Amino acid sequence: MAADRRTVIENCSIATVDAQDTEYGNGHVVLAGNRIESLGAGRAPDGLENVERRIDATGHLVTPGLVNTHHHFYQWITRGLATDHNLFDWLVALYPTWARIDEQMVRAAAQGSLAMMARGGVTTAMDHHYVFPKGSGDLSGAIIGAARDMGVRFTLARGSMDRSEKDGGLPPDFAVETLEGALAATEQTVGQHHDASFDAMTQVAVAPCSPFSVSTELMRQGAELARRLGVRLHTHGSETVEEEKFCHELFGMGPTDYFESTGWLGEDVWMAHCVHMNDSDIDAFARTGTGVAHCPSSNARLAAGIARVPDMLRAGVPVGLGVDGTASNESGELHTELRNALLINRLGAHREAALNARQALRLGTHGGAQVLGRASQIGSLEPGKLADLVLWKLDTLAHASIADPVTALVFGAAAPVTASLVNGRQIVEDGRLLHADEDAIARSTREEAQRLARIAAQG
Ligand SMILES: [Zn+2]
Repeated sequence: MAADRRTVIENCSIATVDAQDTEYGNGHVVLAGNRIESLGAGRAPDGLENVERRIDATGHLVTPGLVNTHHHFYQWITRGLATDHNLFDWLVALYPTWARIDEQMVRAAAQGSLAMMARGGVTTAMDHHYVFPKGSGDLSGAIIGAARDMGVRFTLARGSMDRSEKDGGLPPDFAVETLEGALAATEQTVGQHHDASFDAMTQVAVAPCSPFSVSTELMRQGAELARRLGVRLHTHGSETVEEEKFCHELFGMGPTDYFESTGWLGEDVWMAHCVHMNDSDIDAFARTGTGVAHCPSSNARLAAGIARVPDMLRAGVPVGLGVDGTASNESGELHTELRNALLINRLGAHREAALNARQALRLGTHGGAQVLGRASQIGSLEPGKLADLVLWKLDTLAHASIADPVTALVFGAAAPVTASLVNGRQIVEDGRLLHADEDAIARSTREEAQRLARIAAQG
């Protein structure tokens, strides 16, 4: 086999986000094939063979690629609607439109969602997709294909809903699957697309939507299915006070106790939001290794509240960051969530001691890798790990007068991405996608959003 071709990146600041938070003010990174071979202070060692490319990264900070841990791609074509609603009212307003999606719409929406994140430094994305109208085509295949085409590492959380209005749930009857249908389709998706290898580009998780749209039996059997297949589990939890009330009324217990009773706490589980958690809920997550996808902008947009991230981190709960669906976070970017996570948590109980810049960067990188079950492969810059990294340009008007690069990245304006690499392959150059046409995606997402609005208006 031919020796792996090397890429050398030099003259940059580096935040490795390893266990010691090692940083280099002026350092180098050597990539070989799809792995990080070495990194350190100063110039790269002399005499390296098979160097295909040398990048002079003067004025840049290099970090691990950002990892998004919660999203709903299809919502890209229903952004900017129900803008003054809380979660339950917003869901009830949008379900009838969402129930009309088809494969062509979902493909365009996935491209829009992925493009927006990728050009902002996301190298690993996820999509929690849970709306599968009858006869809507191969939605999972369309989503996975969009990620593959763009070159982004990806986890599809194959969602489901089977508790509609007639069973006390929130979605309309025509928007849900049957228990058996959802389980069979989920197992089929895992079989067809899940790759368990170290450098997998596509993984699949089992992901019933939420306590208020899923039967207890689907929660239970979904957990059993995931463990039988050896894949991860994902759902929404403890997002709002209304959800807490719903759980007490329907199940006689709060969300975390309900999750525990259905097999949904464990180190193979990560949950979106977790805003309304008391001390014993946080202890239960820490004790079981259950992860959290913190979505600060979405929580603010829907007036859900402030998740207790500092308390979770102190207790040892794995926490990553999420954009959440873009019907509740129209920006669709993750790099701005580093800043939002930091600022919003400082409005909570711990005030200025809530989070610092390095903790925020860790949430968006290593923390995300942890909750997706991939911390041994991605999320920090260390020899042997996969070559997923971002070169942030910090020497322009927006950041040049801030001395500390991590402070500039997190506290400053959204930093331009000069290059983003996934699996050793460059996917972004000077803020533009290399393997997708942004303008064509903008056009098709507008057309599909208009087509969906027309169909939904017909009822
Ligand atoms: Zn969500």
